[in-house]
Amino acid sequence: MPATTCRTHENRFTASHTEWRCVRISQQSPSRADTVAVSPFSRSVVRVGVEVETRAPTGQTTAHLVGTGRGETLLVDPADRSDSLDTAVDEHGVEHVAVTHHHPDHVGAVAAYAERTGATVWARTGRAGPFQSATGVAPDREFQPGQRLPGTEIPVVDTPGHTPEHVAFVTGDGWLTGDLAVAEGSVVVGAPEGDMRAYLSSLRRVHASNPARLLPAHGPVIDDPRAVCERLLRHRRHRERRVLAAVRDGHERPDAIVRAAYDKNVSEVFGLARATVIAHVEKLAVEGRLAWNGERAQ
Ligand SMILES: [Zn+2]
Repeated sequence: MPATTCRTHENRFTASHTEWRCVRISQQSPSRADTVAVSPFSRSVVRVGVEVETRAPTGQTTAHLVGTGRGETLLVDPADRSDSLDTAVDEHGVEHVAVTHHHPDHVGAVAAYAERTGATVWARTGRAGPFQSATGVAPDREFQPGQRLPGTEIPVVDTPGHTPEHVAFVTGDGWLTGDLAVAEGSVVVGAPEGDMRAYLSSLRRVHASNPARLLPAHGPVIDDPRAVCERLLRHRRHRERRVLAAVRDGHERPDAIVRAAYDKNVSEVFGLARATVIAHVEKLAVEGRLAWNGERAQ
């Protein structure tokens, strides 16, 4: 099966995973929706797969439209303009726009849909500057993770690690978790912006909360969040052991650690592997398990 890859992600998605359409989840699989615990935030979610041509010619980012519980709609992660997303936005109306984080494959059409709809544009508190740099639009208002998006019933959960500002949005149909998790493969947590300790804490937080499902920005809906969180935690523990063993074997510089810590050929994504290794090294240094001066680990 042909595979496509997203430049910001290590994982490859098979074609079947990228063939999404505008799907109202609760209508997509009524039998499964019936099993969703009724929560005070219950509302419908629409997923729209958007080709991300600027950074990942064959990749997609899923934009989400979420009812706010006040008769309004929140648009999350409009990666780019598309006919499907135009249609969904026009059909549902959009009163709020927010992003899970500031990467280019999540923010490309924030300005366009803000202009098209006149929606309130939200940024995380303290991140208005980077948000404007990334989106080209100044936020109208700011939200605080750990609280509900003001004026809506949508809780925002702090999920840093992939990036410092990364958040998830809680809906009755599942959590919009951006680039925290993917059904297959893994997401990049790479230095300097990636923080491995924060990332693992975010995965554990989601695991503990045990949402009905995760609605990631890349790849299919995750129906078994705990199993996926456990898999991703295992994956990181495995890589951490390999990184630590490489350093203890005398490999000091990131390039050498990469070659020792990966069995597979990572030459095509060496920069990402190197950034990941440094993120692991930084975590291990904070924990006192090795010494790291920014160039050499011992
Ligand atoms: Zn990202």
